[in-house]
Amino acid sequence: MSGSGQDDLKEFNERTFPSEEEFQDVEIDCVDCGQPFIWTGGEQVFFRDKGLKHPPKRCKPCKKAKNERLDAVMKAQAAGLKQRVEVSVTCARCGEQTTVPFYPSQGRPVYCRSCFLEMNPGTIPTDNH
Ligand SMILES: [Zn+2]
Ligand SMILES: [Zn+2]
Repeated sequence: MSGSGQDDLKEFNERTFPSEEEFQDVEIDCVDCGQPFIWTGGEQVFFRDKGLKHPPKRCKPCKKAKNERLDAVMKAQAAGLKQRVEVSVTCARCGEQTTVPFYPSQGRPVYCRSCFLEMNPGTIPTDNH
């Protein structure tokens, strides 16, 4: 018998993805309030189905609050000057608490009305000039 004793190469298809039953509830600390919340197995399946690779960082109330915050900023920016916004800030010049009709970007100094007008005299509508 002249049989070639070739062994079939065996391929091990290791399944690295756990089946849906293997998803277990995970406890995650919320980055906003610091409280641990449960990332349920069902939500993990949802995340995987959506192709999301990172687990959530915030608990549901904080996530909702953050979305509402972003939403408000987006709406205010989209509406431009038509919508009146009031953001509480501390004047970078005199240190007084004041409100400004826009959302100041981080790292940029914000001034109260009188300081702003003092620094930008051209914007004052003078009547006796
Ligand atoms: Zn939270
Ligand atoms: Zn000021």
